[in-house]
Amino acid sequence: MTAAKGGIVPQEEIGNVATPPFVRLPSLTSAFQRRATRASQLAAQQKPLEGFLLFVSALARAQHAALGKLPAGTLPGQQEIFERRKRGAAALASDGLWSDPTWTVALDAILESMAPVEKPEAAEAARRRLVGMAVPERQELARRVLDFDLSAEERALTPYVAAALQVHATRMASLIDAQDIGPEEVTSLCPVCGSPPVASLLHTMGNLQNTRFLSCGLCGSEWHCVRVKCSNCASTKGITYQVIEGQSDAVRAETCDECKTYLKIISLEKEPDAEAVIDDLATLGLDILVSEAEWQRLAPNPLLTFGDA
Ligand SMILES: [Zn+2]
Ligand SMILES: [Zn+2]
Repeated sequence: MTAAKGGIVPQEEIGNVATPPFVRLPSLTSAFQRRATRASQLAAQQKPLEGFLLFVSALARAQHAALGKLPAGTLPGQQEIFERRKRGAAALASDGLWSDPTWTVALDAILESMAPVEKPEAAEAARRRLVGMAVPERQELARRVLDFDLSAEERALTPYVAAALQVHATRMASLIDAQDIGPEEVTSLCPVCGSPPVASLLHTMGNLQNTRFLSCGLCGSEWHCVRVKCSNCASTKGITYQVIEGQSDAVRAETCDECKTYLKIISLEKEPDAEAVIDDLATLGLDILVSEAEWQRLAPNPLLTFGDA
């Protein structure tokens, strides 16, 4: 089996693929623009989440603009990636993400773009606090954002920091050669950057129907995972699917009774415009339903900070 080379391959180019690629790397030209468009689209449909989704849409536009301001990055070499993958680590070292000052260039660009955007007062106060924050403090914050280890008081800072880290990680991921990301063992964390999946996506590619990929919440890479299998504990027993009664079943929660976790699964056949990060944010009602039934979410959406606002 060979992985797709050079980023996410447009569906029409995949043709009669017999096996899915192990990894689909993000496309820099479209990754954040797709999120911006999708968030605006869903904001118009979902009045209770309108303000939040418009904020996220503006954030994704700021992320796209920030890409053009990044200095040239230093990628790990092919041999380094091979060694890291051989011992089960992600291709990109996680401490390399927060300690590399490149992401703070993205942060400054995002903070500037977001200045005129309408937002809650707490979000504007957080933006101003980050503008004046020294690099070592920013790096310490970024390390804890990547570990999902923030105090309640710091949560308003998260979307800007996570957005900047996404820009850096997505750019790095897009520069890697997908064929270097072996061995093709399915893991619960992204083989490219080591972050947890934000959702699963069901793709139809060529003659492969509804092939499941786990979608990374940080770098936007997708990695193949067979269906009806818990991405956390690999159990194939006790997997069930939850939807909100009367709502579209394009986004379902896949729950595992073995480890009591869940991850949303999004059908691109039913909702071709869906995007993992945004459609996850736009279905908070499903999180509430499933968590009330005592399944735990694997990891939060990196951009989520305002509860259900
Ligand atoms: Zn990743
Ligand atoms: Zn499980």
